[in-house]
Amino acid sequence: MVLADLGRRINNAVSGAISSKEDVDSAIDVMLKEIGRALIESDVNVKLVLNLRTKIKSQLKDNQDLQVNKRIIQKVVFDELVSLVDTKTEPFKPKKGKTNIVMFVGLQGAGKTTSCTKFAVYYQRRGFKVGLVCADTFRAGAFDQLKQNATKAKIPFYGSYTETNPIKVSKDGVDKFKKEKFDMIIVDTSGRHKQEADLFQEMIEIDQTIKPTQTIMVLDASIGQAAESQSKAFKDSSNFGSIILTKLDGHAKGGGAISAVAVTNTPIIFIGTGEHIQDFETFNPKSFISKLLGIGDLQGLMEQVESMNFDNKDTIENFQKGKFTLNDFQKQMQMLMKMGPISQIAQAIPGMGDMMGQVGEEETTNRLKRMVFIMDSMTKKELDSDGYIFVREPERILRVARGSGTSAFEVEMILQQQRMMANMAQHTKSMMDSQANMPKGP
Ligand code: GDP
Repeated sequence: MVLADLGRRINNAVSGAISSKEDVDSAIDVMLKEIGRALIESDVNVKLVLNLRTKIKSQLKDNQDLQVNKRIIQKVVFDELVSLVDTKTEPFKPKKGKTNIVMFVGLQGAGKTTSCTKFAVYYQRRGFKVGLVCADTFRAGAFDQLKQNATKAKIPFYGSYTETNPIKVSKDGVDKFKKEKFDMIIVDTSGRHKQEADLFQEMIEIDQTIKPTQTIMVLDASIGQAAESQSKAFKDSSNFGSIILTKLDGHAKGGGAISAVAVTNTPIIFIGTGEHIQDFETFNPKSFISKLLGIGDLQGLMEQVESMNFDNKDTIENFQKGKFTLNDFQKQMQMLMKMGPISQIAQAIPGMGDMMGQVGEEETTNRLKRMVFIMDSMTKKELDSDGYIFVREPERILRVARGSGTSAFEVEMILQQQRMMANMAQHTKSMMDSQANMPKGP
């Protein structure tokens, strides 16, 4: 993840404060300065950073008991980082069986056309009948690009090589798909090089004609501080309700986008992490900050699995109780293999993001398959256990390895990972418990 460096610096600052030999106040000051510096260098607006520092400080100061508890320091930093990207508004959720008209806006090159297709595929996979309309009559080749993407993804599309009026094209496209009872009609509008008045006028006219259920602004994460003014300008004319942040796979520092969320009070709903259709993730403030701080995001993964209607009730219940057995692990693996892009999923599992980075997608998929074979070779008793049964009967490790055609080392790796996930379940539970019990700061 692109913001990994920021996450590493914040983590180091927190660990530094926890292990510091100085008095608590000075240790917290040093930590806050370092967190602030890291955020500003990542393009987060200075005012926001100062605000954040003050908030963390007062949360830690107001309650003397908190100062000595390292979990509390971590949690306060975590919560405040989450609140930076959390607008506390309900993000857009299209409804099946209704006509959801979604209009995409943004500057040229932000990744609008690419994101339209990713968005379309995301909802098509969830059972929506989706159509794409190319209302970008300004850029030569825009229709061809959308047509090519849509054809590849098997999404019906509408556009015109001869009609130059974008308002007419968008109206015709929306009317056509409406008549054919599509649940979701996505309209890609034209972007320009900069914020030109006629672009905004065109957007307003399209908006008044097609009356979108939702307007989404596509924002390139790599444009730094400019994200803020650009978002403000778009907000004034198109009043978008959601943001899709693109190019978080590149060298973007991402902080400008965080400021854009704050200044427009508009939630990010998806992030783009590459040029391909599968490089698209839902955005959830807590999951995002968990990943940023490198603590994995099993919770987000669970939610994703849940939203895909897999039979996963027991695992979720177990996880909420702070438990994670080998059986849960096995079920998760089987579902993950069905869910597609390993690269995204791997990021959410503690320890696996690293593996992905080291050996690449194909080898990761291979290894995941071998993990499934290994767990298929375990007995029911072993699968229902917390894994420590293998510590008591180490010869079973060899048996399982032989039975699955793998090595004892690979079996040990699974046990290690399952333990890591079980710890994670416990950690999440205790975070939730302490959140429930914690007195709220100002
Ligand atoms: P538009 O002008 O806003 O419609 O932008 P396009 O969809 O044509 O995208 C511009 C360029 O950015 C293309 O080369 C895309 O492949 C690329 N792009 C879009 N989204 C992403 C992303 O999330 N990551 C990366 N690395 N490239 C992206």
